[in-house]
Amino acid sequence: MDVGYHKSFESSFESADTTGKVITCKAAVAWGPGQPLVMEDVQVAPPQQMEVRVKILFTSICHTDLSAWKGENEAQRAYPRILGHEASGIVESVGEGVEDMKKGDHVIPIFQGQCGNCICCRNEKTNLCQRFGVNPLKSVMVNDGKTRFSTKDGNPIFHFLNTSTFSEYTVLDSACVVKIDFEAPLETMSLLSCGVSTGVGAAWNVANLQPGSTVAIFGLGAVGLAVAEGARARGASKIIGVDINPNKFAKGKAVGITEFINPKDLGVPVHEVSELQPKIELRTSCTQN
Ligand SMILES: [Zn+2]
Ligand SMILES: [Zn+2]
Repeated sequence: MDVGYHKSFESSFESADTTGKVITCKAAVAWGPGQPLVMEDVQVAPPQQMEVRVKILFTSICHTDLSAWKGENEAQRAYPRILGHEASGIVESVGEGVEDMKKGDHVIPIFQGQCGNCICCRNEKTNLCQRFGVNPLKSVMVNDGKTRFSTKDGNPIFHFLNTSTFSEYTVLDSACVVKIDFEAPLETMSLLSCGVSTGVGAAWNVANLQPGSTVAIFGLGAVGLAVAEGARARGASKIIGVDINPNKFAKGKAVGITEFINPKDLGVPVHEVSELQPKIELRTSCTQN
């Protein structure tokens, strides 16, 4: 563990005292559907009640960012906008009422927020929070229906997916921020914001895999590979990866794929491959006398 590496983030961070002030920083701004993102100076207002301002250190790109950038769904268009929802960073300041986070904490943003109090947050069968659940139509903060980003002329720049991480600083509802261990490598933790959690969660929570399970994963992108990781963690004994890219087998092996099927190499449709047939255990019971 290179502790010095992480300390260097914090020491450079300590020098600035920006609490309560508007911060001017760089952000990649989407000005219209499909238009190139423009790196420019934006103003980021201080966090309000139950909000957190985060210095983003790493951010990654997910396909959801691309669809929003292209404006594929007209109803979801809101420009100018700061996209991005997978990231890691350090808390710069917190708004009134935030007690579970403080300046300097290492965090990741989550677009699927958790207020902890609504009927959905209290139900263990769902995490679709009624206040801060993912909502692609939402482009402003819950507190006041306004944005925390603006151009240098004071015009609003809209938020995206509760997060807006393509900016050096962003403001989020505290319900959309999760603290992580100081020892966790920030440069890769951004993947926990979306792809890895989605894949691991599919195996762990949705499929609720049991030890010894056989699993087939169609598509070994970031999410599919994370499904393999989740399946391995739950003790699956056979994890079959299905992908038309042969290079994905080596990547998959590293996260637990035990067998690989490339549909292009088959003479039959993939669903007819015997390894993928569900094993049906027939149990008969006689109810007749
Ligand atoms: Zn994503
Ligand atoms: Zn909730």
